[in-house]
Amino acid sequence: MISEEDARSKVLEAIQMVPARHVLFSEALGCFAAEDYFARLPLPNFDNSAMDGYAVVASSCRKGERLRVIGEQSAGLDRQLRISPGEAVRIFTGAPMPAGADAVVMQEDVSREGDAIVLNVDVDPGDFVRRRGCDLAEGQKVLANGERVRPATIALLASQGFTDMTVGGDVKVAIVSTGDELVKPGEKIKPGQIYESNSVLLQGLLQRCGTSVKSAEHCRDERESLIGAIKRGIENHILIITGGVSVGEHDLVQATLRSLGAKIDIWRVAIKPGKPFLFGQIRKCAVFGLPGNPVSAFITFLQFVRPAVLKMMGASTGELDPPKVSAELAVDLRNESDRPHYVRGRVENGKFFPVGRQESHALFGLSQSSALLRIGVGEARSGGESVGVQLFD
Ligand code: AMP
Ligand code: MG
Repeated sequence: MISEEDARSKVLEAIQMVPARHVLFSEALGCFAAEDYFARLPLPNFDNSAMDGYAVVASSCRKGERLRVIGEQSAGLDRQLRISPGEAVRIFTGAPMPAGADAVVMQEDVSREGDAIVLNVDVDPGDFVRRRGCDLAEGQKVLANGERVRPATIALLASQGFTDMTVGGDVKVAIVSTGDELVKPGEKIKPGQIYESNSVLLQGLLQRCGTSVKSAEHCRDERESLIGAIKRGIENHILIITGGVSVGEHDLVQATLRSLGAKIDIWRVAIKPGKPFLFGQIRKCAVFGLPGNPVSAFITFLQFVRPAVLKMMGASTGELDPPKVSAELAVDLRNESDRPHYVRGRVENGKFFPVGRQESHALFGLSQSSALLRIGVGEARSGGESVGVQLFD
């Protein structure tokens, strides 16, 4: 049995990024940038009005002053207007500032009298003007290689005139669930059988990573079927097998993988739940064997598979871990087991509450949880203490 940290490093060492590709923005969301991007334009790229109102010369503007309106500038082509003290230009949000103007008065703060306005407020230089480059300077880095592409990232690149971008390659994943007791949801179950739920769990988790599941198939605890499923699965970058990785007579995954020439790098990790976790490689495919118990599959996915998938997608090291926040522990907790324990719970109003039964089959508790607290071997934590928890939802 190896430590969680060693397991994670071994997995990440074996994983390479899939070659980058060029995509339109419509396909870029959730991918990772495969190069650095720099601003071609400052933001804003010209001085413009932040309000509908009147562009003015602030030094000639005291409350009660009367100004002559000499023209109008709407958002769009710059009409190259110019004003002097005592004059105003009708202006709209986003419109370029006329030459000579250094402030905008909101239309709510003036009284219009024919082709003049009377100011109801004092005006300071810079009022309601968005200065060129105040948000972003030309040449500034807008997106780093390995950073996740979010909706605002795409908006920022679009604001620079880009239409497409280079992102990490499409990571193809296959899922194989194993177990004679499992029945496909929607079909009838007989006594002793249960519905197969790990495939949809993993599909959801992979979707959250931003990757595509190419196939999900179920397979009985039977060598020949498993060989077929593995052979199909390893056509992908990653194969995830659930169930059958433990030590029972029906746990055939490891032996079958070996018979197909797999190099098994990891089997059994000091983590609770999830001890039977397996990682190996066949040809170019990374193979993960996750325990069948749903919570074990979930935890080992988050700690080992997710970082591997993200690394393959081109994520930088800083993007591999789930976000962590501090919270006040609501109850006393102690880990008396021989492995670090991931406690499932919720963060509410800054407090972490364990939720449901903390056993590896307890899917309901997991479904009510949104965070994980890791408690090391022999560690005791008291209610009221500040702890760091991983958010997964
Ligand atoms: P195993 O790892 O194959 O020994 O399975 C451990 C436990 O997880 C058993 O109670 C299985 O019935 C259950 N299990 C295995 N695979 C699945 C699955 N795909 N969906 C739901 N439960 C499963
Ligand atoms: Mg099984």
